Amino acid sequence: EGRETRLRVVLRVRPLTCTETRRGDRRVVHSLGDGAVHVSAARHDATFGFSAVFDAGASQEAVFEGSGMRQLVELAVDGFSCTVFAFGQTGSGKTYTLMGPLAQSETQPASPALLGLMQRSFTCLLEQSRSRGSDLALSASYLEIYNEQVRDLLSPGPPCNLPLRWSKTRGFYVENQLSVEFESLEAIVGLLLQGAEPQPQGWDIDFHTYAGRKLENLSVAKPSASTGAKASPPQPQGSACPSKQGTLCFVDLAGSERVKETGSSGELSVEANSINRSLLALGHCISLLAKPRGKRTHIPYRDSKLTRLLARSLGGSGITLMVACISPSSHCLSETLSTLHYASRARRVTTRP
Ligand code: ADP
Ligand code: MG
Repeated sequence: EGRETRLRVVLRVRPLTCTETRRGDRRVVHSLGDGAVHVSAARHDATFGFSAVFDAGASQEAVFEGSGMRQLVELAVDGFSCTVFAFGQTGSGKTYTLMGPLAQSETQPASPALLGLMQRSFTCLLEQSRSRGSDLALSASYLEIYNEQVRDLLSPGPPCNLPLRWSKTRGFYVENQLSVEFESLEAIVGLLLQGAEPQPQGWDIDFHTYAGRKLENLSVAKPSASTGAKASPPQPQGSACPSKQGTLCFVDLAGSERVKETGSSGELSVEANSINRSLLALGHCISLLAKPRGKRTHIPYRDSKLTRLLARSLGGSGITLMVACISPSSHCLSETLSTLHYASRARRVTTRP
């Protein structure tokens, strides 16, 4: 607590897909063990180091246990603000890592072995909640950033944009976001599916989910997060009662492709541009945050909605796990190298939990 802590960055290399194999793509990424990974292609030969590397053979469970995810859940229960973000180009396995094939086939339930980091974390949270009784209540919210607008994916009806505000005590926060209490895995996964439904065509969505903790036996103001779910009257944010709420937030970052490569036009290119703007802003913040604290200049979190939402996770009091995802294929070499450079830079970022 209070000590400078580095972002934990792990790498996941997915298997070659059928299409890639059929096309005869070469594997250009090889795990060397001990968190090192080697990229070798015609004019590139580089080694990168991470806290852990999961290669094509790694199971979902191995990623959960080896990434430090279980500890992160426990820290969230202890009241810390924890964030996991999956980063990498479209098709690199971000959604698979976070949710498993759940998002891909809604009709067939996924085999338990394939469940992603999110469901595994929810199971952990629910176990903790059961063992602690009424001391721990869990609630979830689900947001997306779409064309630089924050939208609530749990609110019924057409998506409405929510304002992103800043206060001295809370930092950046989303006003009036809906928060739904849950007590079972089915309930939270149901919320996830409900929110995941109306995906914008052609692009991944950014999202944000958290499970919060309320200490019911303290006379603190209810976290504002409960405003939507319960019709309780708003309570004053008392100055004497600090927030006793841990959060666990999962972020599925959109793909980082360049617009020109994806050939987007019209409305899609507006989306692509705003996605790129967010990622550019995030990259910029990460480079500045990677400098030693004494040499840091102003961090431009306000440049995008994404960086505002991630401000605490990246530079403040949060604890953050970044899961960089890549394809091993020669076809994806330039995106893979860019993800690896981005992720290596993120390893120098520190927070003070
Ligand atoms: P992203 O969310 O980064 O765009 P996806 O998670 O949708 O990528 O993955 C792209 C494809 O690769 C999907 O068909 C997915 O099932 C498959 N895939 C990704 N990672 C793995 C993995 N570790 N093992 C098996 N298949 C995977
Ligand atoms: Mg995805």
